[in-house]
Amino acid sequence: MKEVKSPKKPLIYYYGIVFLILILFNLIITPLIQNSRIEETDYGTFMEMTNNKEIGLVEVDDNEIIFTNKDQSKVYKTGAMNDPNLTQRLYDSGATFTKNIDRQTSPLVTFLVSFVLPVVIFIALGQYLSRRLAEQLGGKNSMAFGMGKSNARVYVPSSSGIKFDDVAGEDEAKENLAEIVDYLHDPKKYTDIGATLPKGVLLVGPPGTGKTMLAKAVAGEAGVPFFSIAGSEFVEMFVGAGAAKVRDLFRQAKEKAPCIVFIDEIDAIGGKRSGQVGGNDEREQTLNQLLTEMDGFEGNNGVIILAATNRPESLDPALTRPGRFDRRVPVELPDLKGREAILKVHARKIKKADDVDFHTIARMAAGASGAELANIVNEAALRAVRDKRSAVTEADLEESIEVVIAGYQKKGTVLSDQEKKVVAYHEIGHALVAALQSHSAPVQKITIIPRTSGALGYTMQVEQGDKYLLSKEELMNKITTLTGGRAAEEVVFGLVTTGASNDIEQATKLARAMITRYGMSDTFDMVAMENVQNQYLGGDTTLACSPETQTQIDRKVVDIVREQHEKAKKMLQENRPLLDRLAGYLYEKETITGEEFMRIVNEKEGASA
Ligand code: ADP
Ligand code: ZN
Repeated sequence: MKEVKSPKKPLIYYYGIVFLILILFNLIITPLIQNSRIEETDYGTFMEMTNNKEIGLVEVDDNEIIFTNKDQSKVYKTGAMNDPNLTQRLYDSGATFTKNIDRQTSPLVTFLVSFVLPVVIFIALGQYLSRRLAEQLGGKNSMAFGMGKSNARVYVPSSSGIKFDDVAGEDEAKENLAEIVDYLHDPKKYTDIGATLPKGVLLVGPPGTGKTMLAKAVAGEAGVPFFSIAGSEFVEMFVGAGAAKVRDLFRQAKEKAPCIVFIDEIDAIGGKRSGQVGGNDEREQTLNQLLTEMDGFEGNNGVIILAATNRPESLDPALTRPGRFDRRVPVELPDLKGREAILKVHARKIKKADDVDFHTIARMAAGASGAELANIVNEAALRAVRDKRSAVTEADLEESIEVVIAGYQKKGTVLSDQEKKVVAYHEIGHALVAALQSHSAPVQKITIIPRTSGALGYTMQVEQGDKYLLSKEELMNKITTLTGGRAAEEVVFGLVTTGASNDIEQATKLARAMITRYGMSDTFDMVAMENVQNQYLGGDTTLACSPETQTQIDRKVVDIVREQHEKAKKMLQENRPLLDRLAGYLYEKETITGEEFMRIVNEKEGASA
């Protein structure tokens, strides 16, 4: 399926260009042409030509003298001097005095350049502009200016269409949508009993979780046409154009019914109406039109609207009320099983070695979306090609997860010996603190090869399975582990470095969330101090408490982090010999696996016991 999305520049951009060209023309080109014939000379040449009787016309102004040669083919200019006898000498030379020497090139050229050229440029630009306008407003083959054509693309079902099988995981979403497919197959079953299907289904979830894919799969499974348009495409320069597009889209859809209309990023038009003066009129009109259209068609006419958004909380309540988008299908980030399934779906397309274990890869890629997993598989295939191998190996996949997490290996970076040592201790600090505590995820890999993201090394911890609940103790342990890197630097070298900035950020965030959102402090009990803004996009929070409370929160955050930091330092001091051994080993190897790490940890424990 081909989707052509041309990036659109705002119209104002083209007006700007026209304006600029005109200004430039006037400022630079015109004066250039006007003076193009005049040649500047020195006063000596002028006197010489006077004496040689070579001057045709002459014009003496206050501070300059313009003159021509005898046949008037050339115009010269020179500065005026205090020269009392000049007039007499000029007269003697036979020059003709005049007041307006023609300084310009031939009248025809002047006319062409100063009148015709700008007009031609203007017309050409105008043509270009109107074409762009037409493109913005509608399909390429629409009438002049194509007002109000929707550029929804129709997909006629084909055997290559996406099916539910191509969408891995997301079983709940598929189950939910299967009903719609069933309805499209056999509407009679539903109408007989008097049931109406929802007109609109809202697919809600973080980016890259397969919402578009699911919508296509519904159309693919039901074998009906698929119209797709992005919410942002409705929002146009002119008030009313978006609404006209909505009308057109629904007209087309009704003709092709039964069919699926998919509106991506519906929050672009369906955001809450502000109700303030000077709000976005165009967007509101578009939304109103959409609401009217949805009310207008009866439930069972076979047009089903699927819409996707990752900001459900910002949608206008009118849009989500029963009778419009009344069904909401969550499309969440895949869990461990889902990740494994998605990896397998995408791995169908690549050649892979026998050693590939998707379970491990899925575990390592905790938190990755479907799109990211697809990307991981592709990165691995690219890496195999780069290394001139014919199949993708486990190592390729692991490396590509690291690329997605931390960026590419930075081959050129050379750390000084001391720096490398500090980084080794830092990473082992994290890993050892994690290993010495119960309730921490096992260490999978430790490396001190610098990455393009700026990380000088990192410790990868991987949970055994999915974790849905975290206890206070586990969160505290996480913070301790995060402070472990810095703690090791302090314990061993007695210095602090910038290497811990990311750890600090994460530890602070966790500690803050414990207090403000998870109700894990005695002082504030179960009171929310922060609200999550958009759950699916980074999860920004806003404070919801008085400034005094904020101060208290800040103090609490510092207390928590400090306490865990001290705990980490103590742990490392008590295990100093083990810390040294591990850091030495990592320093030498640069990358070690979790098993190697645990072997050394356990050896030591065995020896001391
Ligand atoms: P969204 O619309 O939720 O942002 P898309 O449906 O556009 O995400 O997904 C982007 C890409 O990610 C898809 O083309 C597909 O390759 C991959 N992908 C996402 N989710 C899945 C999934 N559940 N199964 C298989 N591939 C997926
Ligand atoms: Zn660190």
